[in-house]
Amino acid sequence: MMPPTSAATPRYILMHDNDNVAIVVNDGGLPAGAVFDGGLTLLEAVPQGHKVALRDVAKGEAVIRYNVTIGFAADDLPAGSWLNEQNVQMPAARELVNLPISTRLQPPAEPLEGYTFQGFRNPDGSVGTRNILAITTTVQCVSGVVEFAVKRIKEELLPKYPNVDDVVGLEHTYGCGVAIDAPGAMIPIRTLRNITLNPNFGGQAMVVSLGCEKLQPTRLFPKGSIPIQNGGGTEPALVCLQDAQHVGFMSMIDSIMKQAESNLVNLNQRQRETVPASELVVGVQCGGSDAFSGVTANPAVGFATDLLVRAGATVMFSETTEVRDGIDQLTSRAATPEVADAMIREMAWYDNYLQRGGVDRSANTTPGNKKGGLSNIVEKAMGSIVKSGSSAISGVLSPGEKLTQKGLIYAATPASDFICGTLQLAAGMNVHIFTTGRGTPYGLAEVPVIKVATRNDLANRWHDLMDINAGRIASGEATIADVGWEMFQLVLDVASGRETWAEKWKLHNALVLFNPAPVT
Ligand code: CA
Repeated sequence: MMPPTSAATPRYILMHDNDNVAIVVNDGGLPAGAVFDGGLTLLEAVPQGHKVALRDVAKGEAVIRYNVTIGFAADDLPAGSWLNEQNVQMPAARELVNLPISTRLQPPAEPLEGYTFQGFRNPDGSVGTRNILAITTTVQCVSGVVEFAVKRIKEELLPKYPNVDDVVGLEHTYGCGVAIDAPGAMIPIRTLRNITLNPNFGGQAMVVSLGCEKLQPTRLFPKGSIPIQNGGGTEPALVCLQDAQHVGFMSMIDSIMKQAESNLVNLNQRQRETVPASELVVGVQCGGSDAFSGVTANPAVGFATDLLVRAGATVMFSETTEVRDGIDQLTSRAATPEVADAMIREMAWYDNYLQRGGVDRSANTTPGNKKGGLSNIVEKAMGSIVKSGSSAISGVLSPGEKLTQKGLIYAATPASDFICGTLQLAAGMNVHIFTTGRGTPYGLAEVPVIKVATRNDLANRWHDLMDINAGRIASGEATIADVGWEMFQLVLDVASGRETWAEKWKLHNALVLFNPAPVT
């Protein structure tokens, strides 16, 4: 056992053995002359979160962090120097041409065998981590009625079906007042369709429609297009509020409750069974980030991602605007040239989407980023990409698409927490990992969300909101590998039914459909 590390002991975090810089993590930074274990001495003061040269870096030599060239030394920088935006030249701008394709593929890591969880196996082969009655809505007009019905279902019906965890109205602001035939409309429509098929809902679909909306149930669920399990049928049960049979509000509520009870009977048959860890579909993202996101929490997520991929599971990473400037790091890890092409296609689509809106990708680092130690856009992007670990990227999803393969997947989504979470739900996510530095109480009603704090301070203050404290990496109490393994184990426990803090308090954010098409 190592003796406990005093708070004053100079400490840095190294991301990869090939790196020639590391990050100073002590509160308040370190003064010139500070000596690290191993003898490295600071030649000048280095603020917290900033880079120190671990060995001499000659002028023009690559500055390596995350095993990636994040820039080039503008001067000779001896070991112990502070590296910042003044003495690190930015790499050339990342255009979507001449990218390295599949050049950094590591040999596949040894499979992790024998890990399991207790999940709900569905008839289509997918596995849920919760057993939830979901009520799909075609349009915002019905959401007040659905909310009323959900409250009554929870009070009057749910207690009779003890194997069912919850009832959720899939409410959203789409469905009418939109250019439903615009090319971009397929994104919100398929998102809603695919969320209905999320493994946590057990293939039991029911839809509440208004009647006159643009997003008609037949457009949302074209005949025979989805594997709905209701009573052996292939189409979701439908309650249409404008149907002539409904006389008065209570008639609508009665119809919804009658259908809900029929689905609850089916859902109540579901039992947890032992399934391999390869049935996990984990979506990772970050929000309310700080200078430590890319130093503690995100690298720990990356470690857990590698473990999950080795166990045969699926991990999705997303947030296009936050990874765009590390595109060459992603294409170089593409399992095949086709995967690289798909990533380039998604990035180009998003560049164009932003351009249409009259903005660029705003990837230049902010003064706050630089103050926090991020020298340039590549380094910032790497702090986000590090969540994806080091495995080969085996597939790409366009926004709202459903997964069809396992492994590490780039699911193209905006970085917006709610939109990213909604699109990962549509892809088939059954556990969500969310890192935060500033702190956000983010949660989803549809899947468990494991929240990871980047700092001890946040983890201590929000002790009943944060599920994992990655700040222990900065304070020297744990390594990235320790927290990564802890996260991997917690994912299995939560997938088996253990409540997250957000679930305990029933905190959840609204679904937000990504609609790149015009509204009318
Ligand atoms: Ca986010």
